[in-house]
Amino acid sequence: MKKKVLVTGGAGFVGSHLCRRLLNDGNEVICLDNFFTGNKENIIDLLPHPYFELVRHDVQEPILLEVDEIYNLACPASPPYYQYDPVATTRTSVLGAINMLDIARKCNAKILQASTSEVYGDPEVHPQPETYRGSVSTTGIRACYDEGKRCAETLFFDYYRQYGVEIKVIRIFNTYGPYMNPDDGRVVSNFIVQALKGKDITMYGDGTQTRSFQYIDDLIDGMIKLMASRSEFTGPVNIGNPDEFTMLELAKKVIELTDSKSKIIYKPLPQDDPLQRQPMIDLAKKELDWYPKINLRDGLVKSIEYFKKII
Ligand code: NAD
Ligand code: UDP
Repeated sequence: MKKKVLVTGGAGFVGSHLCRRLLNDGNEVICLDNFFTGNKENIIDLLPHPYFELVRHDVQEPILLEVDEIYNLACPASPPYYQYDPVATTRTSVLGAINMLDIARKCNAKILQASTSEVYGDPEVHPQPETYRGSVSTTGIRACYDEGKRCAETLFFDYYRQYGVEIKVIRIFNTYGPYMNPDDGRVVSNFIVQALKGKDITMYGDGTQTRSFQYIDDLIDGMIKLMASRSEFTGPVNIGNPDEFTMLELAKKVIELTDSKSKIIYKPLPQDDPLQRQPMIDLAKKELDWYPKINLRDGLVKSIEYFKKII
């Protein structure tokens, strides 16, 4: 059955993939975005689609829309952008969650929150299961994002308990792929663009910190499966690829795959930068029959093709 689906942050990296997938699956899609980090180019091919609508709106303000499902993605995700106006970042997460949950409550719509592995902060438990409560600074430069996302999770669970809203909370681990903004500042896009342009690769710290990178198609599958899961299943559920790499290993892979002559240069590690991160995905396997299918090498090859075209 055709559903009317609202995607906030739909013009961003993840949101544009999600809008495309939802349309291909035969749904009507309303893409809502204020274009802070999103870009019309990401969804330009969708504009002529008869079941696609674009709404320019800031989720910090209330809005009334009639929908069956909501994916709440609106929020800058890259450290340089979410730290640019930290107060707006927290407001976007907190007021955005309230405004979208109010729509869900009024329309009896199902709502999914794009939460993040950042709720675990700089983790003392490794790998991170959903039961781990995290190690997050409330005062550091990442707190506007981390604490905003943690409060959004709290609001989701309170709307669920207090008003019976059907909620789904996904904790997304580092994701990469086509339609990332080349100036976004995140590590995969930075390294690929630097390698393709023959510029120095900027390594923050000594490069021994780790991340676990998932390719965008795996994430979108996880989001769709979570939204379709049994109504009692709220999450939070980790969606990420457990293959863990140091940033030095990532840089070397990118240099090899782009056949680049770029050199690695070292810059200071930003404050509160997590030293390690790896998802435990047993819950996603059990509840959603989901596991990542695309390894880092294959995902990087697809991403490099995209960045070659656009830069
Ligand atoms: P992105 O910056 O590409 O997309 C975010 C989108 O939200 C942009 O289109 C932006 O313009 C829009 N937006 C920001 N503030 C808004 C506001 N106040 N009102 C309306 N729209 C607003 O980032 P992304 O990587 O696509 O991330 C999407 C979501 O997934 C975010 O909520 C992010 O926290 C979450 N997430 C992403 C990752 C990742 O690795 N990509 C990891 C964990 C969580
Ligand atoms: N990083 C880096 N060089 C860059 C951008 C990022 O070494 O040009 C590092 C960053 O310090 C962090 C890791 O790569 O340790 C992942 O950074 P990103 O911003 O992509 O994601 P997050 O820190 O939010 O997981």
